Amino acid sequence: MTENPFLSPSDLPYQLPPFAAVANEHYLPAFEQGMAEQLEAVDAIANDAEAPTFANTVVALERSGLGTLKRVALVFFNKNSSDTDDDLNAIESEISPKLAAHADKILLNPALFARIEAVWEQRGQLGLDEQDERLLERYRTEFVRGGAALDADGKARLSAINTELAELASKFNQQILSDINDAAVHVTDRAELDGLGEDQIGAAASAAKERGIEGWLITQSNFSRHPLLEDLKDRGLRERLYKATIGRGAGNAETLLRMVRLRAEKAQLLGFEHFAAYIAADQTAGNAGIIAERLAGLAEASVRNARREAAELQEVIDADGGGFELAAWDWSFYAKQVRQAKFGFDAEALKPYLELDRVLVDGVFHAAEKEFGLTFEERKDLEGYHPEARVWEVFDSGEPLGLFVGDFFTRDSKKGGAWMNPLVVQSELTGDKPVVVNNLNIVKPSEGQPALVTVDNVTTLFHEFGHALHGLLSACRYPKTSMTSTPRDFVEYPSQVNEMWEDWPEVTANYMRHYETGEAAPAELIAQWKAAGKFGEGFASTEYLGAALLDQAWHRLTPDEVPDGGDDPFAVVEAFERKALEDAGIYMPEIAPRYRSGYFAHISIGYAAGYYSYIWSEILDADTVEWFKEQGGLTRENGDHFRATLLSKGGSIDPMESYRRFRGRDAVIDPLLERRGLR
Ligand SMILES: [Zn+2]
Repeated sequence: MTENPFLSPSDLPYQLPPFAAVANEHYLPAFEQGMAEQLEAVDAIANDAEAPTFANTVVALERSGLGTLKRVALVFFNKNSSDTDDDLNAIESEISPKLAAHADKILLNPALFARIEAVWEQRGQLGLDEQDERLLERYRTEFVRGGAALDADGKARLSAINTELAELASKFNQQILSDINDAAVHVTDRAELDGLGEDQIGAAASAAKERGIEGWLITQSNFSRHPLLEDLKDRGLRERLYKATIGRGAGNAETLLRMVRLRAEKAQLLGFEHFAAYIAADQTAGNAGIIAERLAGLAEASVRNARREAAELQEVIDADGGGFELAAWDWSFYAKQVRQAKFGFDAEALKPYLELDRVLVDGVFHAAEKEFGLTFEERKDLEGYHPEARVWEVFDSGEPLGLFVGDFFTRDSKKGGAWMNPLVVQSELTGDKPVVVNNLNIVKPSEGQPALVTVDNVTTLFHEFGHALHGLLSACRYPKTSMTSTPRDFVEYPSQVNEMWEDWPEVTANYMRHYETGEAAPAELIAQWKAAGKFGEGFASTEYLGAALLDQAWHRLTPDEVPDGGDDPFAVVEAFERKALEDAGIYMPEIAPRYRSGYFAHISIGYAAGYYSYIWSEILDADTVEWFKEQGGLTRENGDHFRATLLSKGGSIDPMESYRRFRGRDAVIDPLLERRGLR
């Protein structure tokens, strides 16, 4: 074996991991060594003869996890999400339960917990500043929530549950990816593709060719609403595509039921009624009752709006002489027609003005320059983990700030959706500057064609870059509380705020330029696009809330209430899902939840009982957008205030406190209700 690149810090700029030197055989030994190193350090802390202090206990614990283990974990989990293979999947299956057991060895170490408690007891007399205090509070909370106060039997059971949950989560996610690949729809008659643009047809032909089959292949993304449903004129193909998309999940039914039961048991072991209550207790929401109440209130208005939209769609169908009732696979197609008829908006006409690099450089990066003084230089000399992962150096008023890696195209080896990961964590303790990666699933153009993206892709680019900014602008002392390490129902807020620049006139004028001529998009087209964006809030809110309420429903069960899978676990899961949506008043046959249970990746990982976070964060987002508008919009002064009070703080102080410092008061919900038409 060549020398393992994870065993020492990278000597590349910003400690960018040396991807070219990494082979699959390096991961497992590095994980094993990293865990051993940390346990040795933790034992030394727990058995220290000196009396416990903040430095020799809390800071020492913080340092214990920063070596080999951190380096390999950040690289591995990014790679396994964005460019996996059978070997990596096997490594994930092996290492996930081991990492869970490793975490438990630390959290359930009684001598270590006793020292943390001792420091906690003295916290008022230690002269800690707010970042120190936050770190101490996070560790103490993590230990208590991790079962440190349980008796020996309770600890043993909890540890067994955590290990099994880790196994189940990797199984669940690997199944989702293989289902996405299996559910691709094969088309052999070109006429069926009527309505698609040449670029989309070319992309489908390339996808077929890549798998060595004739004709065209419509690949899946993970959402219930396939993006091509809005273009396909052939109603039969629309139905086939829709059913393939939402019919996934049978292979995950048993795993899901088991995960839900184990989580319910874990919550009760730790003194909570159910898992939703356990999760909410450590979020800004505070308790599951408040979440349920708020979601229920929004659901009613959303469905009312969606029904009104459905009636408008049916009118178009009838006017066309369609003679059929609106079905789920018709919704996107006719919504597009309504946008065109009502607002004159033609998405195809906008497309040539949405070239990926222009959107990114002249839109996303441009807004960050105006707001924060950041500039970007592509570093073709620095290698990513895949040929399509490009690296930019980021400068802050000319000073080196960090690296941004962008990996935009979809491929069979990439998980669905879009996300941001850190590759190097910013910290004053270590002196490390941030390196972050954005992953998207933009359909790759066929060879030689420009990468023209959709309006949804544009939103996602701004959104994910908002997470990247939260990472890049972080100026925190401790890795544990830096960058995006905030409660989940807060973390989507900065990314959502960044979406506001997508249609900000100055930004739009800068990036919406014709990919061939460089000509600006006509003002009328832009105005139509903005107006048309207001149609469809009912659908968007309903599909989102469907998923959020479904996630809550699964996790509000006590262990006894979790249904038994019997002979047909998929039928059991589907029946539960239907009833949960009906009970929540959000069920509409024409609108599937954004994710159905069997392909709801969020609930296998960190967002279990936390999918409500998006709308929770959006309350802060909408309130913040109001502030920017009141203060004159996209200016350095506004950006610097947002950065100083909020973005740079990461999770190093209480997030609601940072919000108050930014806004001068608590957030109010009115701007959100206004935006989504939910009054
Ligand atoms: Zn996000």
